[in-house]
Amino acid sequence: TSTVFHFGGAADHDDPRQKDKTVTGGKGANLAEMASIGLPVPPGFTISTEESVRYLNDGAGFSDGLQDHVAQALTHIERTVGKRFGDPADPLLVSVRSGARVSMPGMMDTVLNLGLNDQTVAGLAAKSGQPRFAWDSYRRFIQMYSDVVLGVDHGLFEEALEIAKEDKGLYADTEMKCEDWQTLVAQYKQIVTDELGRDFPQDVNEQLWGAIRAVFDSWDSDRAKVYRRLNDIPPEWGTAVNVQAMVFGNMGETSATGVAFTRDPSTGERAYYGEWLVNAQGEDVVAGIRTPQYLTRAARETAGAKPLSMEEAMPEAYGELARVFDLLERHYRDMQDIEFTVEEGKLWMLQTRSGKRTAKAALKMAVDMVEEGLIDEKTAILRVDPMALDQLLHPTLDPDAPRDVLATGLPASPGAASGKIVLDADTAEQWAGRGDKVILVRVETSPEDIHGMHAAQGILTARGGMTSHAAVVARGMGRPCVSGASQVSIVREARTLRIGNRELKEGDTITIDGANGQVMAGEVATIEPELAGDFGVLMEWADRHRRMRIRTNAETEQDCRMARQFGAEGIGLCRTEHMFFDASRISLVRQMILASDEKGRRAALAQLLPEQRADFHAIFEVMVGLPCTIRLLDPPLHEFLPHNEADFADLAEATGLGVDHLRRRAGELHEFNPMLGHRGCRLGITYPEIYEMQARAIFEAACDVAAVSGEAPVPEIMIPLVATRRELTLLKHAIDRVADEVFAEKERRIIYLVGTMIELPRAALMAGEIAHDAEFLSFGTNDLTQTTLGVSRDDAARFLSVYVDKGIFPRDPFVSLDIDGVGQLVELAVQRGRATRSDIKLGICGEHGGDPASIDFCEKVGLDYVSASPYRVPIARLAAAQASL
Ligand code: PEP
Ligand code: MG
Repeated sequence: TSTVFHFGGAADHDDPRQKDKTVTGGKGANLAEMASIGLPVPPGFTISTEESVRYLNDGAGFSDGLQDHVAQALTHIERTVGKRFGDPADPLLVSVRSGARVSMPGMMDTVLNLGLNDQTVAGLAAKSGQPRFAWDSYRRFIQMYSDVVLGVDHGLFEEALEIAKEDKGLYADTEMKCEDWQTLVAQYKQIVTDELGRDFPQDVNEQLWGAIRAVFDSWDSDRAKVYRRLNDIPPEWGTAVNVQAMVFGNMGETSATGVAFTRDPSTGERAYYGEWLVNAQGEDVVAGIRTPQYLTRAARETAGAKPLSMEEAMPEAYGELARVFDLLERHYRDMQDIEFTVEEGKLWMLQTRSGKRTAKAALKMAVDMVEEGLIDEKTAILRVDPMALDQLLHPTLDPDAPRDVLATGLPASPGAASGKIVLDADTAEQWAGRGDKVILVRVETSPEDIHGMHAAQGILTARGGMTSHAAVVARGMGRPCVSGASQVSIVREARTLRIGNRELKEGDTITIDGANGQVMAGEVATIEPELAGDFGVLMEWADRHRRMRIRTNAETEQDCRMARQFGAEGIGLCRTEHMFFDASRISLVRQMILASDEKGRRAALAQLLPEQRADFHAIFEVMVGLPCTIRLLDPPLHEFLPHNEADFADLAEATGLGVDHLRRRAGELHEFNPMLGHRGCRLGITYPEIYEMQARAIFEAACDVAAVSGEAPVPEIMIPLVATRRELTLLKHAIDRVADEVFAEKERRIIYLVGTMIELPRAALMAGEIAHDAEFLSFGTNDLTQTTLGVSRDDAARFLSVYVDKGIFPRDPFVSLDIDGVGQLVELAVQRGRATRSDIKLGICGEHGGDPASIDFCEKVGLDYVSASPYRVPIARLAAAQASL
């Protein structure tokens, strides 16, 4: 099978592999698709991803026929456009671009104008009748090729250009004359010779293969690897290479280049949206070198900008573009992100792909497109990335809060963020690593900054438009971004910012508002998100299509309320120890555990009972009528021990016991491996009075709430860290006994369940036995992951990222369930539990309950519900719906 596919022109062949992104990459597949539906695409060819895999991963070099196939494909382009590659009289020039399955910043992007050399530049000048254009193209080519293929620092070329402009007293590149470019080309070539000790390659075939190799090599660049890790892209996908005949946006005032979206990628509004530049080549728009202009008249007028929009300046080409937009949306049934060039009045399409969008826009487009009849409800549900909802669920700036506005840039990615100013990506990562919230402030960002952008709460740039690198990447990552805030200047040596007459230091706090582009001093108050509108509509569709129930992990009244607003249908895990750590109670808890006998423990527990009852009362009031899984005390006693002199002194005072005695008792309770020590149900087995107190507090509170509201919550009492059936049998007896006592006292019975967590491999294996005594099983996959992998959940961060980098785990198994391993235990326990008790309730309450991939697995094994932290509840609702479709 062939690994080279050509597109555009007459000789289109019909190989289904060509439109398969896994073979030809996103860019290549869409170019072929566009050509086949009759859109104006410059002819070209794609070298498939298989070649890059051979070349990089397998070290096998290119496949045998590749050189010949490339030569044939090049001939196809030559025939179609009527020019020859390397022809000194009338040269064909090409672009070379990478194209993985998904678009990937960090990889070699583009080399334009390839095929120019000292001879062909003269041919291009003569044939086009525009010598200035030809030499402008040549200098661009030398700079780009030297940078991305030969590895010469691009700063050297920029410096030379700046000096040339200064010498001439010029401001803009567009003012440079033909002779100026000629002089600069000579300087550029000298830079290459000086840097590399050899001349810039004049052989056009050498140029082409150099660029092809550079694309392949860039797949394994450090930046690409970082991006792959952050986005779960496997290294074995590889990249394709696209070689395409050049069309020129820099041939004068009737030529232009631009990028556009068929709908607004920030808001989702149904309006063409984009930026363009007259007499320019593609990278001018993205690199933020010249400030791009508005595409539509409406957008220009709203912004109050002067330079004409494309709609006004080039009505014909714009009309053609609008026609293409509609065609593309109807064809792909999705918002498209496109690149185009106008060469002497004629429109050419260089790329289309489904456009990156903010969560807000994704929602709006999904809902709108259902209304427009473009897609159905199920497709709409599948369109929205559950994790992206996160962006919508977090607070935005309070419009009434005072704002000390320092500067205003472009609202490049929505959301608001406050944090300390950091001026480079490494500092961002370091400070964030130690727990600081940071805002990354750069002149403009490049793919080298990705890790810093990820670590930051938000991004602020002094240069660049709405489609600049910073804007596009920030939107994809869900980070708020203000770009092009030109009043901001960075004083690099002093590590300060100057904004007007004010100066801020690295480390000072600022706030950015990605909704309106404002940059403010200090921290600004926020308000809670709006959950109605498109969000509400999509959630309603999701609820209709999901099978699993969604509960929440919560232990305060406030979290419970929030979770209910987010759509939680009960509590899947209430961790009662959080209540014990409360400052007002910790002394009582310590008295209880340090007591030398049961009598001492009971005395302390009697004082804790009303407090604990009040905790449950508050929760039950919010959760009336809903199931509430309450887990009895779980953490190692070790964690409650007094830490310092003051703790011991307080305790001595409260108990009347000597400090020495208390110290000795604490020493006895010290553990070397507390997570495998005296914790979980082992506490209930050794000190039954603790669980008895907790059970009493639960039943009393439930009865009290039922007495007032007429409706009772449904407590599901959960025993942690069970390994054997006998543990559960003993503890269930005790709980049932307390229930009978309380119901007799209160003269009321309420429905409750007793069940257990599956957190140990033995519990999973013995689930059939355990289910005799358990009315429900809840998978505690945090501990189950820890105990199955033998990896400490509290220490794993130090080495797990290396494991992920080396492909040992595809993702952090504490974030996304290790389906292959831990998943087997879950599946087995489900089967064995159900075999014993067919109506046993099954759920998950580890962190994985809020992770879409893990939720998909939970659907497959048939759990009844997942439980997630309050902010993750909507994510879980959508993910559960997607899993059912
Ligand atoms: C678990 O182990 O998965 C769990 C939910 O309990 P915790 O995180 O409190 O140990
Ligand atoms: Mg646990």
